[in-house]
Amino acid sequence: MDEPPVDIIDRHRIAFISEAPEYCDTCAGTGARVEAFVFAELPSGRSVAYCGHHGTRYLERLREIALVVVDHRHLVVA
Ligand SMILES: [Zn+2]
Repeated sequence: MDEPPVDIIDRHRIAFISEAPEYCDTCAGTGARVEAFVFAELPSGRSVAYCGHHGTRYLERLREIALVVVDHRHLVVA
């Protein structure tokens, strides 16, 4: 009905980005330091960050549950 445009969640909370972890949480579990490009703030107050690969994998779920989702995958340099 009056759903906002899908990309509206990418457009705000710039301050959130600078507070977010810089490395992918999932890759960190394997000991790797991979720059994060997808950031989200969960209802629990926890912030998560994911690399392009994991961000793509979790984005659908994050858009369902997260308060804020910041998708910077367009900045990924291969
Ligand atoms: Zn990752």
